[in-house]
Amino acid sequence: MELYSTNNRDLRVSFQEAVFNSLPADKGLYMPIEIPQLSGHFIANLQQYSLPEIAFEVARKLIGNVIPEADLKAIIDEAINFDAPVKLLSSEIAVLELFHGPSLAFKDFGARFMSRVMAYFSANDGQTLDVLVATSGDTGGAVALGFLGVPGTRVTILYPKGKVSPVQELQLTTNGQNIRAVEVDGTFDDCQALVKEAFNDKDLNERFNLTSANSINIARLIPQTFYYFYAYAQLKSQGINEVVFSVPSGNFGNIGAGILAYKMGLPVQQFIAATNVNDTVPRFLRNGSYEPRPSVQTLANAMDVGNPSNWVRIMDLFGGDIEQVRKQVTTYTYTDAETQQAIQTLFEQYGYVACPHTAIAWLAATAYRERHPGSYATVFLSTAHPCKFPEVFAPEVARRIVIPQQVKALEGGKKAITPLGVDFDGFKQYLLDNGTV
Ligand SMILES: *Cc1c(COP(=O)(O)O)cnc(C)c1O
Repeated sequence: MELYSTNNRDLRVSFQEAVFNSLPADKGLYMPIEIPQLSGHFIANLQQYSLPEIAFEVARKLIGNVIPEADLKAIIDEAINFDAPVKLLSSEIAVLELFHGPSLAFKDFGARFMSRVMAYFSANDGQTLDVLVATSGDTGGAVALGFLGVPGTRVTILYPKGKVSPVQELQLTTNGQNIRAVEVDGTFDDCQALVKEAFNDKDLNERFNLTSANSINIARLIPQTFYYFYAYAQLKSQGINEVVFSVPSGNFGNIGAGILAYKMGLPVQQFIAATNVNDTVPRFLRNGSYEPRPSVQTLANAMDVGNPSNWVRIMDLFGGDIEQVRKQVTTYTYTDAETQQAIQTLFEQYGYVACPHTAIAWLAATAYRERHPGSYATVFLSTAHPCKFPEVFAPEVARRIVIPQQVKALEGGKKAITPLGVDFDGFKQYLLDNGTV
């Protein structure tokens, strides 16, 4: 696999380089030079394969021989070790549940795969790989649990004090082993600024082998393609061959992976990008001008993104042609009041409890169906388990949330937290004083 930068098509980097850099120096995004095609035979017989088998075939095609097949298979069997079931709510609408991993969110796919790929490439370095992550909640949990116990790695998570949910805090702070939690007395932006400054600090770079677990890392995008193929496989086994995916979108990494799967040969009629009021992409597709805005806080806070970092990847996949994007991607935008109502309706109509992000995807799925009647199935992606957002539910809905085993297992755990301020010197000193794993 070779990659270029969306800002410079002449740049050529290896998969390994793209994984450790996350971003090219020119601030573009890495994209594969060639998008491999899966065979028609494989697509036609998808229903015969398990999720890890599909994942292996897709990854092998994309990554090529940089990771030998036996090693790639071991990485996948370890990383993709939980299910992604499609559940039919009616004959035409289904939910793809992506929250059965350790952090109860779809980001587990990306984080678990990336952690093992990084560990694989740095296995012979002799130096610990130090991963620094700033999180507002979901990413940090997935990265912490994704790297937990992975040999040769250590993760330092920075999160804003008092701004993550109780379940998220447990996921960030009770791990021990190679995971450390730093509670910053500030905002998410302060956390991000500290991490950024650490990457630019000469002393820290001399002392440590630093890397980020950035959400735009190519090793997080690749595994997110797997479940689109697997969802299609499950529908095929029910006799359904036509599918529309509705994806709750923030940074547009999830839907970007779906579009990559489509470009590799997965037959998808249409993608629906469902957003909250942070609607930079819907506005762009309406009026053709890309105008990012500061993010606005909503109930679906993992989608509160004013300038979606993966959008350039999607433009790139369509050769920069907005008309091509408009043909394949429909957008809908919803307010918090509509999201609340959708959670209630899903519960009353189907007995289904959805997190706010998922509820937005369902709204968009039903809106699209109304305008485009047909025999296809609309699959909306459920990106997180509702127990991660307890504050949004009415009591009668909240009572129906079944707390998963993963959370129960954390509840007795001991929290280990290092509180720090927003000044860089304090953070730097903390890293230097706690140098060894
Ligand atoms: C991150 C996240 C999203 C948004 O995904 P993107 O890839 O950023 O578009 C949606 N829902 C949940 C629960 C998330 O954690």
